[in-house]
Amino acid sequence: MTAAVNKTATTQGKVVLDAPIFDPRAFRLGDEQAAIITRARELGQTVFAGRAAAYDRDAEFPTENYRDLHRTGLLGISIPKTHGGLGADYPTYALAAAEIGRYCGATALTWNMHVCSTLWSGPLADDLDMDAATRAEHGRRRATHYKRIVEDGAIYSQPFSEGGAAAAGGVAFGTEARPVKGGWLVNGKKIFASLSGHADYYGVLCTEIAEGEKASRRNTLYLAVPAKADGVSVVGDWDPLGMRGTVSRTLLFKDVFVEDDAALMPRGVYFQAAQRWPHMFLTLSPTYMGLAQAAYDFTVRYLRGEVPGTPPVKRRMYPTKQIAVAQMQIKLEQIKAIWFQAVSEARSNPDKEQVLRAYAAQYSVMEGANELATLAIRTCGGQAMLKSLPLERIYRDSRCGSLMLPWTAELCLDRIGREALYEPGETDD
Ligand SMILES: Cc1cc2nc3c(=O)[nH]c(=O)nc-3n(C[C@H](O)[C@H](O)[C@H](O)COP(=O)(O)OP(=O)(O)OC[C@H]3O[C@@H](n4cnc5c(N)ncnc54)[C@H](O)[C@@H]3O)c2cc1C
Repeated sequence: MTAAVNKTATTQGKVVLDAPIFDPRAFRLGDEQAAIITRARELGQTVFAGRAAAYDRDAEFPTENYRDLHRTGLLGISIPKTHGGLGADYPTYALAAAEIGRYCGATALTWNMHVCSTLWSGPLADDLDMDAATRAEHGRRRATHYKRIVEDGAIYSQPFSEGGAAAAGGVAFGTEARPVKGGWLVNGKKIFASLSGHADYYGVLCTEIAEGEKASRRNTLYLAVPAKADGVSVVGDWDPLGMRGTVSRTLLFKDVFVEDDAALMPRGVYFQAAQRWPHMFLTLSPTYMGLAQAAYDFTVRYLRGEVPGTPPVKRRMYPTKQIAVAQMQIKLEQIKAIWFQAVSEARSNPDKEQVLRAYAAQYSVMEGANELATLAIRTCGGQAMLKSLPLERIYRDSRCGSLMLPWTAELCLDRIGREALYEPGETDD
Protein backbone atom coordinates (compact mmCIF):
# COMPACT_ATOMS: atom_id res chain seq x y z
CA MET A 1 0.00 0.00 0.00
CA THR A 2 1.35 3.44 -0.89
CA ALA A 3 0.47 5.76 1.95
CA ALA A 4 -1.27 8.93 0.80
CA VAL A 5 0.94 11.72 2.01
CA ASN A 6 -1.94 13.66 3.48
CA LYS A 7 -2.63 10.80 5.90
CA THR A 8 -0.19 10.79 8.75
CA ALA A 9 0.92 8.14 11.14
CA THR A 10 1.88 10.26 14.12
CA THR A 11 2.42 13.85 15.09
CA GLN A 12 5.38 15.35 16.92
CA GLY A 13 4.76 18.79 18.33
CA LYS A 14 3.24 20.81 15.53
CA VAL A 15 4.91 18.87 12.71
CA VAL A 16 2.56 16.47 11.02
CA LEU A 17 4.68 13.48 10.18
CA ASP A 18 4.54 11.66 6.88
CA ALA A 19 3.36 8.08 6.86
CA PRO A 20 6.20 5.53 6.54
CA ILE A 21 7.20 4.33 3.07
CA PHE A 22 6.71 0.76 4.31
CA ASP A 23 3.79 0.57 6.70
CA PRO A 24 4.92 -1.71 9.57
CA ARG A 25 1.67 -3.68 9.63
CA ALA A 26 1.33 -4.09 5.87
CA PHE A 27 4.98 -5.16 5.53
CA ARG A 28 5.00 -7.18 8.76
CA LEU A 29 7.83 -5.34 10.45
CA GLY A 30 8.73 -6.07 14.06
CA ASP A 31 8.21 -3.40 16.74
CA GLU A 32 11.92 -2.82 17.24
CA GLN A 33 12.53 -2.60 13.49
CA ALA A 34 9.65 -0.14 13.09
CA ALA A 35 10.94 2.01 15.97
CA ILE A 36 14.40 2.39 14.37
CA ILE A 37 12.87 3.23 10.99
CA THR A 38 10.53 5.75 12.62
CA ARG A 39 13.50 7.40 14.32
CA ALA A 40 15.16 7.85 10.91
CA ARG A 41 11.97 9.18 9.31
CA GLU A 42 11.34 11.70 12.07
CA LEU A 43 14.90 13.00 11.93
CA GLY A 44 14.76 13.14 8.13
CA GLN A 45 11.49 15.03 7.95
CA THR A 46 11.82 17.36 10.93
CA VAL A 47 15.52 18.22 10.60
CA PHE A 48 17.26 17.06 7.41
CA ALA A 49 14.57 18.17 4.94
CA GLY A 50 14.96 21.80 5.99
CA ARG A 51 18.74 21.75 5.52
CA ALA A 52 18.90 19.81 2.24
CA ALA A 53 18.58 22.78 -0.15
CA ALA A 54 21.57 24.62 1.32
CA TYR A 55 23.87 21.57 1.26
CA ASP A 56 22.85 21.02 -2.35
CA ARG A 57 23.28 24.63 -3.41
CA ASP A 58 26.73 24.96 -1.84
CA ALA A 59 27.85 21.35 -2.54
CA GLU A 60 28.63 21.26 1.17
CA PHE A 61 28.95 18.15 3.33
CA PRO A 62 26.03 17.77 5.80
CA THR A 63 28.18 17.93 8.93
CA GLU A 64 25.31 19.05 11.19
CA ASN A 65 23.25 16.07 10.04
CA TYR A 66 26.05 13.74 11.11
CA ARG A 67 26.03 15.29 14.57
CA ASP A 68 22.30 14.57 14.70
CA LEU A 69 22.82 11.01 13.47
CA HIS A 70 25.30 10.55 16.31
CA ARG A 71 23.01 12.20 18.89
CA THR A 72 20.11 9.93 17.94
CA GLY A 73 22.19 6.73 17.84
CA LEU A 74 21.74 6.32 14.10
CA LEU A 75 25.47 6.65 13.38
CA GLY A 76 25.77 3.24 15.03
CA ILE A 77 22.57 1.80 13.57
CA SER A 78 24.15 -1.54 12.58
CA ILE A 79 26.60 -1.80 15.46
CA PRO A 80 25.57 -4.60 17.84
CA LYS A 81 23.73 -3.50 20.99
CA THR A 82 26.46 -5.09 23.10
CA HIS A 83 28.81 -2.46 21.64
CA GLY A 84 26.42 0.44 22.17
CA GLY A 85 24.74 0.46 18.75
CA LEU A 86 21.12 -0.08 17.70
CA GLY A 87 21.80 -3.59 16.37
CA ALA A 88 19.86 -3.12 13.13
CA ASP A 89 20.13 -5.93 10.60
CA TYR A 90 20.46 -5.42 6.84
CA PRO A 91 16.74 -4.95 6.01
CA THR A 92 16.15 -2.65 8.98
CA TYR A 93 19.09 -0.47 7.95
CA ALA A 94 17.89 -0.41 4.33
CA LEU A 95 14.36 0.69 5.30
CA ALA A 96 15.73 3.39 7.63
CA ALA A 97 18.08 4.64 4.89
CA ALA A 98 15.18 4.90 2.46
CA GLU A 99 13.42 7.19 4.94
CA ILE A 100 16.52 9.41 5.19
CA GLY A 101 16.86 9.45 1.36
CA ARG A 102 13.30 10.69 1.11
CA TYR A 103 14.35 13.96 2.78
CA CYS A 104 18.04 14.38 1.91
CA GLY A 105 19.62 12.22 -0.77
CA ALA A 106 23.20 13.29 -0.06
CA THR A 107 22.91 12.50 3.63
CA ALA A 108 21.42 9.06 2.93
CA LEU A 109 24.05 8.19 0.32
CA THR A 110 27.00 9.19 2.49
CA TRP A 111 25.41 7.57 5.55
CA ASN A 112 25.31 4.39 3.48
CA MET A 113 29.09 4.47 2.96
CA HIS A 114 29.51 4.97 6.71
CA VAL A 115 27.04 2.29 7.81
CA CYS A 116 28.43 -0.29 5.39
CA SER A 117 31.74 -0.10 7.26
CA THR A 118 29.91 -1.65 10.22
CA LEU A 119 27.40 -3.78 8.28
CA TRP A 120 30.07 -5.47 6.16
CA SER A 121 32.48 -5.96 9.03
CA GLY A 122 29.56 -6.99 11.27
CA PRO A 123 26.55 -9.19 10.37
CA LEU A 124 27.86 -9.82 6.86
CA ALA A 125 31.31 -10.98 8.03
CA ASP A 126 29.63 -13.15 10.68
CA ASP A 127 28.04 -15.11 7.82
CA LEU A 128 31.39 -15.87 6.14
CA ASP A 129 34.06 -18.50 6.73
CA MET A 130 36.97 -17.69 9.03
CA ASP A 131 38.99 -19.91 11.35
CA ALA A 132 38.46 -19.32 15.06
CA ALA A 133 41.66 -17.31 15.58
CA THR A 134 40.91 -15.02 12.63
CA ARG A 135 37.34 -14.50 13.82
CA ALA A 136 38.54 -13.63 17.31
CA GLU A 137 41.06 -11.13 15.96
CA HIS A 138 38.41 -9.62 13.68
CA GLY A 139 36.08 -9.30 16.68
CA ARG A 140 38.74 -7.40 18.62
CA ARG A 141 39.51 -5.09 15.69
CA ARG A 142 35.95 -4.20 14.81
CA ALA A 143 35.26 -3.36 18.46
CA THR A 144 37.76 -0.51 18.07
CA HIS A 145 35.86 0.86 15.06
CA TYR A 146 32.53 0.50 16.89
CA LYS A 147 33.86 2.40 19.91
CA ARG A 148 35.09 5.30 17.79
CA ILE A 149 31.68 5.61 16.14
CA VAL A 150 29.50 5.19 19.22
CA GLU A 151 31.61 7.24 21.64
CA ASP A 152 33.32 9.81 19.45
CA GLY A 153 30.93 10.12 16.51
CA ALA A 154 33.66 9.01 14.08
CA ILE A 155 32.58 8.94 10.42
CA TYR A 156 33.73 6.28 7.94
CA SER A 157 33.61 6.36 4.14
CA GLN A 158 34.04 3.77 1.39
CA PRO A 159 36.26 4.85 -1.50
CA PHE A 160 36.37 2.04 -4.11
CA SER A 161 36.29 3.80 -7.45
CA GLU A 162 39.47 4.38 -9.39
CA GLY A 163 38.08 5.22 -12.83
CA GLY A 164 38.81 1.76 -14.30
CA ALA A 165 37.30 -1.71 -14.15
CA ALA A 166 38.21 -2.45 -10.50
CA ALA A 167 35.10 -0.91 -8.91
CA ALA A 168 33.03 -2.82 -11.49
CA GLY A 169 34.56 -6.02 -10.08
CA GLY A 170 36.54 -6.75 -13.26
CA VAL A 171 40.18 -6.45 -12.12
CA ALA A 172 42.19 -5.97 -8.91
CA PHE A 173 42.17 -2.53 -7.30
CA GLY A 174 45.09 -0.39 -8.47
CA THR A 175 45.50 1.09 -5.00
CA GLU A 176 48.19 -1.06 -3.37
CA ALA A 177 48.98 -2.07 0.20
CA ARG A 178 52.54 -3.34 0.65
CA PRO A 179 53.10 -5.31 3.85
CA VAL A 180 55.62 -3.69 6.23
CA LYS A 181 56.37 -4.26 9.91
CA GLY A 182 53.15 -3.67 11.91
CA GLY A 183 50.93 -2.94 8.91
CA TRP A 184 50.97 -1.74 5.31
CA LEU A 185 52.13 1.13 3.16
CA VAL A 186 49.23 2.29 1.00
CA ASN A 187 49.68 4.03 -2.37
CA GLY A 188 47.03 4.92 -4.90
CA LYS A 189 44.18 7.15 -5.95
CA LYS A 190 40.39 6.98 -5.46
CA ILE A 191 37.98 9.08 -7.49
CA PHE A 192 34.42 10.02 -6.54
CA ALA A 193 35.27 9.38 -2.90
CA SER A 194 32.18 10.60 -1.05
CA LEU A 195 32.87 12.26 2.33
CA SER A 196 36.34 13.36 1.18
CA GLY A 197 37.75 15.80 3.69
CA HIS A 198 34.89 15.03 6.10
CA ALA A 199 35.23 11.37 7.09
CA ASP A 200 37.56 10.50 9.95
CA TYR A 201 38.46 7.15 8.34
CA TYR A 202 38.49 6.21 4.66
CA GLY A 203 37.49 2.52 4.27
CA VAL A 204 39.79 1.92 1.33
CA LEU A 205 39.54 -1.14 -0.94
CA CYS A 206 43.05 -1.98 -2.10
CA THR A 207 45.20 -4.89 -3.23
CA GLU A 208 47.79 -6.41 -0.94
CA ILE A 209 50.94 -6.99 -2.98
CA ALA A 210 54.17 -8.46 -1.69
CA GLU A 211 57.42 -7.76 -3.60
CA GLY A 212 57.35 -9.48 -7.02
CA GLU A 213 53.72 -10.63 -6.72
CA LYS A 214 51.00 -10.00 -9.35
CA ALA A 215 47.88 -8.09 -8.30
CA SER A 216 44.90 -10.39 -7.69
CA ARG A 217 41.32 -9.64 -6.65
CA ARG A 218 41.69 -12.47 -4.11
CA ASN A 219 44.13 -10.26 -2.20
CA THR A 220 41.75 -7.34 -1.77
CA LEU A 221 42.06 -5.63 1.61
CA TYR A 222 39.52 -3.33 3.24
CA LEU A 223 41.46 -0.86 5.40
CA ALA A 224 40.28 2.05 7.56
CA VAL A 225 42.87 4.69 6.67
CA PRO A 226 42.87 7.60 9.15
CA ALA A 227 42.04 10.81 7.31
CA LYS A 228 44.79 12.61 9.21
CA ALA A 229 47.53 10.08 8.40
CA ASP A 230 50.66 11.41 6.71
CA GLY A 231 50.45 11.00 2.94
CA VAL A 232 46.64 11.32 2.64
CA SER A 233 45.40 14.25 0.57
CA VAL A 234 42.13 15.40 -0.97
CA VAL A 235 42.37 17.05 -4.37
CA GLY A 236 40.14 18.42 -7.13
CA ASP A 237 36.81 20.15 -6.90
CA TRP A 238 33.26 18.79 -6.69
CA ASP A 239 30.61 20.56 -8.71
CA PRO A 240 28.31 17.82 -10.07
CA LEU A 241 24.73 17.65 -11.36
CA GLY A 242 23.32 15.89 -8.32
CA MET A 243 24.19 14.43 -4.92
CA ARG A 244 26.19 17.58 -4.41
CA GLY A 245 26.37 17.31 -0.62
CA THR A 246 28.30 14.01 -0.88
CA VAL A 247 31.52 15.96 -1.61
CA SER A 248 32.95 13.07 -3.65
CA ARG A 249 36.41 14.47 -4.45
CA THR A 250 39.64 12.64 -5.28
CA LEU A 251 41.72 10.98 -2.58
CA LEU A 252 45.46 10.42 -2.94
CA PHE A 253 47.50 8.01 -0.82
CA LYS A 254 51.30 8.38 -0.90
CA ASP A 255 53.22 5.92 1.27
CA VAL A 256 50.52 6.04 3.95
CA PHE A 257 51.37 3.77 6.87
CA VAL A 258 48.30 1.87 8.07
CA GLU A 259 48.57 -0.43 11.08
CA ASP A 260 47.38 -4.07 11.14
CA ASP A 261 44.40 -3.22 13.33
CA ALA A 262 43.02 -0.92 10.62
CA ALA A 263 41.73 -3.95 8.70
CA LEU A 264 37.94 -3.79 8.51
CA MET A 265 37.90 -7.36 7.24
CA PRO A 266 40.56 -10.07 7.58
CA ARG A 267 42.64 -11.12 4.57
CA GLY A 268 40.54 -12.86 1.90
CA VAL A 269 37.19 -12.02 3.49
CA TYR A 270 36.26 -9.13 1.17
CA PHE A 271 36.81 -11.41 -1.84
CA GLN A 272 34.71 -14.10 -0.18
CA ALA A 273 31.98 -11.55 0.60
CA ALA A 274 31.86 -10.31 -3.00
CA GLN A 275 31.32 -13.92 -4.18
CA ARG A 276 29.01 -15.18 -1.44
CA TRP A 277 27.12 -12.10 -0.18
CA PRO A 278 26.19 -10.25 -3.39
CA HIS A 279 23.50 -8.15 -1.69
CA MET A 280 26.38 -6.16 -0.17
CA PHE A 281 26.31 -4.20 -3.43
CA LEU A 282 22.58 -3.46 -3.16
CA THR A 283 23.19 -1.05 -0.29
CA LEU A 284 23.40 2.02 -2.55
CA SER A 285 19.75 1.54 -3.50
CA PRO A 286 17.89 2.58 -0.28
CA THR A 287 18.72 6.25 -0.86
CA TYR A 288 17.05 6.07 -4.27
CA MET A 289 14.05 4.15 -2.90
CA GLY A 290 13.54 7.20 -0.69
CA LEU A 291 13.92 9.59 -3.62
CA ALA A 292 11.30 7.63 -5.59
CA GLN A 293 8.87 8.05 -2.70
CA ALA A 294 9.79 11.74 -2.40
CA ALA A 295 8.94 12.39 -6.07
CA TYR A 296 5.54 10.78 -5.58
CA ASP A 297 4.87 12.57 -2.27
CA PHE A 298 5.68 15.94 -3.82
CA THR A 299 3.40 15.34 -6.79
CA VAL A 300 0.38 14.42 -4.68
CA ARG A 301 0.89 17.40 -2.39
CA TYR A 302 1.50 19.82 -5.24
CA LEU A 303 -1.56 18.77 -7.23
CA ARG A 304 -3.64 19.10 -4.07
CA GLY A 305 -2.26 22.63 -3.58
CA GLU A 306 -0.61 21.70 -0.29
CA VAL A 307 3.12 22.29 -0.82
CA PRO A 308 4.32 24.84 1.75
CA GLY A 309 5.56 28.06 0.17
CA THR A 310 3.35 27.75 -2.92
CA PRO A 311 -0.09 29.29 -3.53
CA PRO A 312 -2.93 26.89 -2.60
CA VAL A 313 -3.79 26.26 -6.25
CA LYS A 314 -5.33 22.87 -6.90
CA ARG A 315 -4.44 21.03 -10.10
CA ARG A 316 -5.82 17.62 -9.19
CA MET A 317 -9.06 17.94 -11.21
CA TYR A 318 -7.38 17.45 -14.61
CA PRO A 319 -7.76 13.88 -15.92
CA THR A 320 -4.31 13.93 -17.53
CA LYS A 321 -2.70 14.72 -14.18
CA GLN A 322 -4.78 12.03 -12.46
CA ILE A 323 -3.55 9.48 -14.99
CA ALA A 324 0.05 10.55 -14.44
CA VAL A 325 -0.37 10.13 -10.68
CA ALA A 326 -1.90 6.70 -11.27
CA GLN A 327 1.12 5.74 -13.39
CA MET A 328 3.45 7.02 -10.68
CA GLN A 329 1.63 5.12 -7.95
CA ILE A 330 1.79 1.88 -9.95
CA LYS A 331 5.49 2.36 -10.66
CA LEU A 332 6.21 3.19 -7.03
CA GLU A 333 4.41 0.08 -5.76
CA GLN A 334 6.30 -2.08 -8.26
CA ILE A 335 9.62 -0.65 -7.10
CA LYS A 336 8.69 -1.04 -3.45
CA ALA A 337 7.58 -4.64 -3.86
CA ILE A 338 10.68 -5.95 -5.61
CA TRP A 339 13.04 -3.89 -3.47
CA PHE A 340 11.43 -4.98 -0.18
CA GLN A 341 11.64 -8.61 -1.24
CA ALA A 342 15.30 -8.26 -2.29
CA VAL A 343 16.47 -6.52 0.89
CA SER A 344 14.46 -8.97 3.03
CA GLU A 345 16.22 -11.99 1.55
CA ALA A 346 19.81 -10.66 1.71
CA ARG A 347 22.03 -13.41 3.08
CA SER A 348 25.10 -15.49 2.29
CA ASN A 349 24.93 -17.93 -0.61
CA PRO A 350 21.63 -16.73 -2.10
CA ASP A 351 20.22 -18.92 -4.86
CA LYS A 352 20.26 -17.88 -8.51
CA GLU A 353 16.71 -16.52 -8.44
CA GLN A 354 17.52 -14.32 -5.43
CA VAL A 355 20.65 -12.93 -7.09
CA LEU A 356 18.77 -12.13 -10.30
CA ARG A 357 16.07 -10.47 -8.21
CA ALA A 358 18.68 -8.36 -6.39
CA TYR A 359 20.00 -7.06 -9.75
CA ALA A 360 16.43 -6.46 -10.91
CA ALA A 361 15.62 -4.60 -7.68
CA GLN A 362 18.71 -2.40 -8.03
CA TYR A 363 17.84 -1.64 -11.66
CA SER A 364 14.19 -0.94 -10.83
CA VAL A 365 15.02 1.46 -8.01
CA MET A 366 17.86 3.31 -9.71
CA GLU A 367 16.10 3.81 -13.04
CA GLY A 368 12.62 4.06 -11.49
CA ALA A 369 13.47 6.87 -9.07
CA ASN A 370 14.55 9.08 -11.95
CA GLU A 371 11.56 8.05 -14.09
CA LEU A 372 9.24 9.07 -11.26
CA ALA A 373 11.05 12.39 -10.78
CA THR A 374 10.85 13.06 -14.52
CA LEU A 375 7.12 12.33 -14.57
CA ALA A 376 6.65 14.45 -11.44
CA ILE A 377 8.18 17.49 -13.13
CA ARG A 378 6.14 17.03 -16.29
CA THR A 379 2.92 16.56 -14.34
CA CYS A 380 3.36 19.30 -11.76
CA GLY A 381 4.48 21.86 -14.33
CA GLY A 382 6.90 24.75 -14.59
CA GLN A 383 6.39 26.39 -11.22
CA ALA A 384 7.19 23.09 -9.53
CA MET A 385 10.74 22.92 -10.85
CA LEU A 386 11.95 26.17 -9.31
CA LYS A 387 14.97 25.84 -7.06
CA SER A 388 12.89 27.09 -4.13
CA LEU A 389 11.16 23.67 -4.13
CA PRO A 390 12.72 20.23 -3.54
CA LEU A 391 11.51 18.53 -6.74
CA GLU A 392 14.33 19.68 -9.03
CA ARG A 393 16.90 18.49 -6.45
CA ILE A 394 15.11 15.13 -6.23
CA TYR A 395 15.29 14.96 -10.03
CA ARG A 396 19.03 15.73 -10.15
CA ASP A 397 19.90 13.44 -7.23
CA SER A 398 17.85 10.58 -8.66
CA ARG A 399 19.78 10.81 -11.96
CA CYS A 400 22.94 9.60 -10.16
CA GLY A 401 21.59 6.21 -9.02
CA SER A 402 22.11 4.19 -12.18
CA LEU A 403 25.75 5.34 -12.43
CA MET A 404 26.82 3.79 -9.16
CA LEU A 405 29.33 0.96 -9.56
CA PRO A 406 29.51 -1.98 -9.29
CA TRP A 407 25.80 -2.40 -10.03
CA THR A 408 25.19 0.36 -12.57
CA ALA A 409 21.96 -0.01 -14.57
CA GLU A 410 24.02 -1.24 -17.54
CA LEU A 411 25.94 -3.79 -15.50
CA CYS A 412 22.70 -5.08 -13.94
CA LEU A 413 21.27 -5.69 -17.41
CA ASP A 414 24.52 -7.32 -18.47
CA ARG A 415 24.56 -9.67 -15.46
CA ILE A 416 20.86 -10.56 -15.61
CA GLY A 417 21.05 -11.43 -19.30
CA ARG A 418 24.18 -13.55 -18.95
CA GLU A 419 23.37 -15.24 -15.65
CA ALA A 420 19.79 -16.04 -16.69
CA LEU A 421 21.01 -17.79 -19.83
CA TYR A 422 24.20 -19.49 -18.63
CA GLU A 423 24.79 -21.67 -15.59
CA PRO A 424 28.22 -21.19 -13.92
CA GLY A 425 30.94 -22.61 -16.16
CA GLU A 426 28.65 -23.10 -19.19
CA THR A 427 29.91 -22.00 -22.62
CA ASP A 428 28.72 -22.43 -26.21
CA ASP A 429 31.98 -24.05 -27.37
C1 LIG B 1 27.15 11.00 -6.29
C2 LIG B 1 28.15 9.91 -6.42
C3 LIG B 1 28.82 9.48 -5.29
C4 LIG B 1 29.76 8.46 -5.36
N1 LIG B 1 30.40 8.04 -4.24
C5 LIG B 1 31.30 7.05 -4.31
C6 LIG B 1 32.00 6.58 -3.16
O1 LIG B 1 31.81 7.06 -2.06
N2 LIG B 1 32.89 5.58 -3.31
C7 LIG B 1 33.14 5.03 -4.50
O2 LIG B 1 33.95 4.13 -4.54
N3 LIG B 1 32.52 5.45 -5.62
C8 LIG B 1 31.60 6.43 -5.53
N4 LIG B 1 30.95 6.86 -6.66
C9 LIG B 1 31.46 6.39 -7.95
C10 LIG B 1 30.63 5.50 -8.80
O3 LIG B 1 30.40 4.24 -8.27
C11 LIG B 1 31.38 5.37 -10.14
O4 LIG B 1 32.60 4.78 -9.92
C12 LIG B 1 31.57 6.72 -10.70
O5 LIG B 1 30.35 7.15 -11.17
C13 LIG B 1 32.71 6.77 -11.67
O6 LIG B 1 32.28 6.67 -12.92
P1 LIG B 1 33.14 6.35 -14.18
O7 LIG B 1 32.86 7.43 -15.14
O8 LIG B 1 34.56 6.00 -13.87
O9 LIG B 1 32.40 5.02 -14.52
P2 LIG B 1 32.30 4.21 -15.82
O10 LIG B 1 33.17 4.74 -16.89
O11 LIG B 1 30.86 3.98 -16.09
O12 LIG B 1 32.89 2.86 -15.32
C14 LIG B 1 34.23 2.70 -14.91
C15 LIG B 1 34.80 1.44 -15.52
O13 LIG B 1 33.98 0.32 -15.15
C16 LIG B 1 33.84 -0.58 -16.24
N5 LIG B 1 32.46 -0.59 -16.76
C17 LIG B 1 31.53 0.37 -16.60
N6 LIG B 1 30.40 0.05 -17.24
C18 LIG B 1 30.61 -1.14 -17.82
C19 LIG B 1 29.81 -2.00 -18.63
N7 LIG B 1 28.56 -1.68 -18.93
N8 LIG B 1 30.37 -3.15 -19.05
C20 LIG B 1 31.62 -3.48 -18.73
N9 LIG B 1 32.42 -2.70 -17.95
C21 LIG B 1 31.92 -1.55 -17.52
C22 LIG B 1 34.77 -0.08 -17.33
O14 LIG B 1 36.03 -0.66 -17.17
C23 LIG B 1 34.85 1.42 -17.04
O15 LIG B 1 36.00 2.00 -17.56
C24 LIG B 1 30.02 7.88 -6.61
C25 LIG B 1 29.34 8.31 -7.75
C26 LIG B 1 28.41 9.31 -7.66
C27 LIG B 1 27.70 9.74 -8.89
